[in-house]
Amino acid sequence: MKYASKLVKVKKDPGYGSHIPPIYMTSTFVFENAEVGAQRFAGEDPGFMYTRLGNPTVRELEEKVAELEFGEGCLAFSSGMAAITGCLLGILQAGDHVIAHTALYGATHAFLTTTVKKFGIDVTFVPFKTAEDLEPHITERTRVIYFETPSNPTLSLVDLSSVADLAKQKRILTVVDNTFLSPYLQNPILHGIDIVVHSATKYLSGHGYLIGGLVVARKDIIDPMRKEVQKNMGAVMSPMDAWLLSQGMRTLHIRMDRAQLNAQVLAERLEKHDAVAQVFFPGLAGFEDKAIMEKQMKGPGAMISFVLKGGYEAGVKLMNSVKLCTLAVSLGDVGTLIQHPASMTHAIIPKEEREKAGVWDGLVRFSVGIEDVEDIWQDLDMALE
Ligand SMILES: *Cc1c(COP(=O)(O)O)cnc(C)c1O
Repeated sequence: MKYASKLVKVKKDPGYGSHIPPIYMTSTFVFENAEVGAQRFAGEDPGFMYTRLGNPTVRELEEKVAELEFGEGCLAFSSGMAAITGCLLGILQAGDHVIAHTALYGATHAFLTTTVKKFGIDVTFVPFKTAEDLEPHITERTRVIYFETPSNPTLSLVDLSSVADLAKQKRILTVVDNTFLSPYLQNPILHGIDIVVHSATKYLSGHGYLIGGLVVARKDIIDPMRKEVQKNMGAVMSPMDAWLLSQGMRTLHIRMDRAQLNAQVLAERLEKHDAVAQVFFPGLAGFEDKAIMEKQMKGPGAMISFVLKGGYEAGVKLMNSVKLCTLAVSLGDVGTLIQHPASMTHAIIPKEEREKAGVWDGLVRFSVGIEDVEDIWQDLDMALE
């Protein structure tokens, strides 16, 4: 079955034949008798027991996402951060070493610099693109390589297969946050990556109505993670959110196609605008990681970062002038979202440190939606003036 059809299809309802599957909004499941209860807890009967341990609505979503990311299994969590932290705490132990990319989602970076340290796990941050940049930092204790591609805010890329090949030789697990592209535009597992994580809050949901996270991997990684991380730590997705997410995902391809088409037009126009110093977008002719993009991405995505010549003041002014674009963090919504990291998400980081990570005073982050592109441009152009 082709990808678009996989996205749209829904599972048959075994009960009343409802076209859209029902939501199993229940905390617990009834056992017919003591023997059945015993068999379920012993793992001899596949039936459900308690929603923290598994729920039919959540399981249906997990099976769909596993298929879309070409993994053997998937776990749904209550947020992207619950998926990322649950996954890492599930595979790491005291004494392990992690190599993480320097450009990471803020809370992931904070987790790796604070929480994991408390458990005797060391982390080295490296600004890598290929295996060559990584190799000198690998030690006997290195257990995990963690990164995002494209990464925030300059949308620079990491070569998936290059990193995966080296990690396999050294028996290190690779974990990739694939939130920015969604499974429709990039599938890290097909390039040899072991584990893919998502903030389902973004493109997968697409409608800004939920917080959720996903981990996709082989069965030998997912099965123990379900029994240990989900059962004992408990940050599972609710059936209601799983159902909403399943419905949102049915239009992922259409939303992504349109948003990235809009982003291409806007990035090209922004590049020519007098008020703009620089534009970061993988679809531009001068994009620095074009060769990597062609190897692993089906499209440039719909995230644009651009730098205003007018710096901090111009950034604040732009935020206060847009009318169609919504001033909000997050991304991947059907509506265009815009934010100014220096005065918002990254305001607590000292200017010098912020700029090392590419967050200049005039940087604007732009999540392009599926409105009419001319309306978005008119709003932006007016605000830039
Ligand atoms: C939003 C985001 C997260 C965190 O996800 P939540 O659902 O907000 O917990 C992690 N990584 C990336 C790249 C994100 O954009």
